[in-house]
Amino acid sequence: MNTLKKKIREHKYKFTNQRQIILQAFLDSRENHMSAEDVYEIVRVDNPDIGLATVYRSLELFTQLELLKKLDFGDGRSRYELNDRNINHSHHHLICLGCGKVTEFSYDFLNDIRDKIKKESGFDIVDYQLKFYGYCKDCAKKNHDL
Ligand SMILES: [Zn+2]
Ligand SMILES: [Zn+2]
Repeated sequence: MNTLKKKIREHKYKFTNQRQIILQAFLDSRENHMSAEDVYEIVRVDNPDIGLATVYRSLELFTQLELLKKLDFGDGRSRYELNDRNINHSHHHLICLGCGKVTEFSYDFLNDIRDKIKKESGFDIVDYQLKFYGYCKDCAKKNHDL
C-alpha cells in the first residue's frame, strides 16, 4: 500500500480517503479480477457514501497510473487487477464460458517461442498475456451431468 500511495503522490494526485478505500479493496480481495460493480459492492458495505461513479473514475485513474491493469474477458465488463509486474509476467487467464469465473494460470510459453520470433522477425517480446476460453471444473461437470 505504501508504494502505491507514493506512486499516486508522485503523479500529483491526492490520495483521497475514497481512493485509498477502493485500492484497499483490491489488496484485500482474493478475487483479483474485479469489475467496477464488484468493487462497488465491496466498498459500499462499510462506505455507503462512495458512489459507483467514483469507483469508475478511480479505477480509470489507477489504470492510467499503472497501478491497475484493465482486462477485457469478452463479456462486456471491464475487469481490473493489481498491476504487479512480477506477478503478472506470464500469468494468463482461464475464462469460464459457463459461470464467468476467471482463474489465473502461470506458464511461460515465451521460452518456447521468443528466440524463434526474434530470429524470424527481429521482434523482441517483453511481455504477453493469453486468454483461454472454456469451462471450469464445476461447469464441465454440470455439462457432463446434463
Ligand atoms: Zn464455470
Ligand atoms: Zn490476472
